[in-house]
Amino acid sequence: MLEQAKLTLKKYYGYDSFRPGQESIIASILSGKDTFVIMPTGAGKSLCFQIPALQLPGITLVISPLISLMKDQVDALGTLGIAAAYINSSLSYSEVRKRVAETRAGRYKLLYVAPERLQLESFRQLLTTLPVSMVAIDEAHCVSQWGHDFRPAYLAIGPFLQELGQRPVVAAFTATATPEIKQDIVRQLGLADPRIFVTGFNRENLHLAVRTLRGKEKRQFILEYVTARAEQAGIIYTATRKETEELCNFLNENGLTAGKYHAGMADAERKRNQENFIYDNLRLMVATNAFGMGIDKSNVRFVIHYNMPKNIEAYYQEAGRAGRDGEPAECILLFGAQDIVLQKFLIEQSVPHPERRKYEMAKLQSMVEYCQTSRCLRHFILNYFGESDAPEECGTCSNCGNEREVQDVTAAAHTILSC
Ligand code: ADP
Ligand code: MG
Repeated sequence: MLEQAKLTLKKYYGYDSFRPGQESIIASILSGKDTFVIMPTGAGKSLCFQIPALQLPGITLVISPLISLMKDQVDALGTLGIAAAYINSSLSYSEVRKRVAETRAGRYKLLYVAPERLQLESFRQLLTTLPVSMVAIDEAHCVSQWGHDFRPAYLAIGPFLQELGQRPVVAAFTATATPEIKQDIVRQLGLADPRIFVTGFNRENLHLAVRTLRGKEKRQFILEYVTARAEQAGIIYTATRKETEELCNFLNENGLTAGKYHAGMADAERKRNQENFIYDNLRLMVATNAFGMGIDKSNVRFVIHYNMPKNIEAYYQEAGRAGRDGEPAECILLFGAQDIVLQKFLIEQSVPHPERRKYEMAKLQSMVEYCQTSRCLRHFILNYFGESDAPEECGTCSNCGNEREVQDVTAAAHTILSC
């Protein structure tokens, strides 16, 4: 069966080999076991359910949260020569019935549906007339209220699976799952003793570093760093709009051309700066976390965090915008005890719910630990995401390289977080 998966990979997708994890995930699904996959964005989750869908009898239902995402995937499959269709609120009921009938007649192997559909009794009835072999749940974290993209309609998936006469194999996919969210997904979807795969988080070409510095030292560090790399493109993230403005001015006053990006700017200016950066007319971008969603610039050589972000997920996502081309790139976090105060304040301002606040604080605590650990930074991050087989030492981060001056802010951090 795996031989066939390889042939499908080549024949339909044109790829010669699987990425780490993909083959075992496909094997797990084909063996009929519920499968839960945690893999970062861009690592290649879609293949992991599309290839088994082609091999299994009958059809695969794919639950997907966004109409645009569904359309993109169905169009992409079409160009690969794979027959797929979607059903969501953009279609009339007669069109929905037509697509279901076509699916029943064997026209499609994959049927993408919006979770809201499963809340409709009549639609669930229609689905029971289909030979469903697999249900793939994309963006599965949407089922958890702990996640940031909670979608109440995802709660309909679990009961729907129960309702089906013959239970199909269920595969859930997400890029983000802390232990709480992971547990929640398994419970809410009713996954039966699932095989869990956490893979693809390691980015070999990223050189991770943490430096403990005060405000003024941070500026000086950045000035020297970017001056020494006159040809390279980089992003500098700050925690607030005000700091974006100030740091950008500081760099420009010192003869460097930097652009800025934050949510408080006029759309036109923001867009212009973003395009200049993407098309290499501007090599430095100072920005808040508003910058970067959906930006695919491959030659970013460094991402510097002027402040510690609120959690590891946010940090790794932003830092991960460096080195998309696979060439070496640096991710440097400039840490100061003030960052803890600021992040704690921001959580208190924005998270009213006490349970939820506790949860965010615990994530902040892990972020602080990352800044203070003397152990391998890569191992810390991979371990955080649940990749249990990560080597103890990567040999390239600032802790492995031992280039970091150890400064004891542990006591200060502890007091701040516990009060
Ligand atoms: P995810 O859903 O995990 O964010 P996608 O499934 O959209 O990621 O895949 C991201 C990109 O990686 C796609 O362009 C896909 O074609 C490509 N890709 C996936 N698997 C492989 C592979 N084995 N070899 C080469 N490219 C791959
Ligand atoms: Mg995806």
